[in-house]
Amino acid sequence: MAKNEKNKKEKLSDRLFYKLKNCWEGIDKKTEKEVEDFALSYKQFLDKGKTERECVDAICELLDKDGFVNVETLKDKKPDSGMKIYQNIKGKSVLAAVIGKKSAVGGFNILGAHIDSPRLDLKQNPLYEDNDLALFDTHYYGGIKKYQWTTIPLSMHGVFVKEDGKRIPVRIGEDPGDPVFTVTDLLIHLAKEQMEKKASVVVEGEDLDILAGSRPYNDTKNEEKEKVKLALLDLLNKKYGITEKDFASAEIEFVPAFKASDVGLDRSMIGAYGHDDRSCAFPSLRALTTMAREKNVPDKTLVCYLSDKEEIGSAGNTGARSYNFEKFLAYLCGGSDADFRKCLLNSAMLSADVDAAYDPSYAGVFDKKNGSFIGKGLSLSKYTGTGGKYGASDANAEFCAKIQSILDRNNVQWQFGELGKVDKGGGGTIALYAAQLGIEVLDCGVPVLSMHSPFEVISKIDLYTTYRGYVAFLREA
Ligand code: MN
Ligand code: MN
Repeated sequence: MAKNEKNKKEKLSDRLFYKLKNCWEGIDKKTEKEVEDFALSYKQFLDKGKTERECVDAICELLDKDGFVNVETLKDKKPDSGMKIYQNIKGKSVLAAVIGKKSAVGGFNILGAHIDSPRLDLKQNPLYEDNDLALFDTHYYGGIKKYQWTTIPLSMHGVFVKEDGKRIPVRIGEDPGDPVFTVTDLLIHLAKEQMEKKASVVVEGEDLDILAGSRPYNDTKNEEKEKVKLALLDLLNKKYGITEKDFASAEIEFVPAFKASDVGLDRSMIGAYGHDDRSCAFPSLRALTTMAREKNVPDKTLVCYLSDKEEIGSAGNTGARSYNFEKFLAYLCGGSDADFRKCLLNSAMLSADVDAAYDPSYAGVFDKKNGSFIGKGLSLSKYTGTGGKYGASDANAEFCAKIQSILDRNNVQWQFGELGKVDKGGGGTIALYAAQLGIEVLDCGVPVLSMHSPFEVISKIDLYTTYRGYVAFLREA
């Protein structure tokens, strides 16, 4: 800093206003490389894990590499200081922890994100034929603008389960040379009536059917019906050993087939399917493994929860409302029930979930004073909810102040994260399910453009800032 600049008197507004800078400004070469490296490993993670099941596989692989041990292999061994463990919940969610030195009664530091994303799920009896086209009937999962899911390449992911319990994984449309799938849309020439419709019904849920094939079974004796459908079942039977009945139990999900890419001439952003909420799940996981690599065992036990089913209300026995979360914390705590209650009341959690980024094309729905912006860091949402904060956990002022001071101390820029103007809409996270256990919890994560669309966009610098914020939280909360 030049001498005359240093001597320049600080303006009153410099001292009193909370000024947000663009996090790229003044970045040094070393940090720039860290941002880029982190973005690269995140993009690889996204391409590997396009469904909750694939994410769990990718997560467990990373945890194994870092010396975490699956609790199943521990048998009767109790958690002990310095241990690094994880639990795989039905292949759809993961709980991981580094056991700290201090008594569990003092509480844990917890990061919780979700790894399910909006998509098209197959119905139980999905395959049908209409005029020599075979289609898959779907039921969408999570909140989507249905029209966004037509005319894009889709890939097929999931699992068939045979009567003997054998799981048969499916992944078609991701490897070079693989075929892809698509939902068709009406040509503009015939869309006069369609274009008059409201956006919520311009493409209806029941019409999100996936084009699956068009070539009939080679039936020389001409004794079969529905030959295109038959040919597809024949292919599936030869490859996976399944029949039509096996769809009834299967979990088959169609997601965008494209890979994560840099966005913009300056490559400052990442476009991909599933930033909600993998852009918070990945930094959460990496924050935990970073802490696990440190020479000293942390004081407090550190936990990372990567849950399923958030997009449909966190229900189900792999979602955040299930008993799994509490049970894992109780296991880490050991001791009496009274000790465990104390542990919960003394625990701190960041509900690591994405926030809506300000979009200049839709400026009208955002409150610029309270919203979050691409490139301006980690977004903190004291509350979420809909219409009068309904359904929000509304974090306590004391806890918010504590988190803000940790971030400030560590030079992690944070911004305000109210989801749009009052009464323009709303949303929820897993925060309230942790709050009801007594845990102090605050929502915070990466701002996203085009959230819940097939191609969401985030900033690389926000992703990295979020990771740094999560590390600071684990270390100092
Ligand atoms: Mn989310
Ligand atoms: Mn969401």
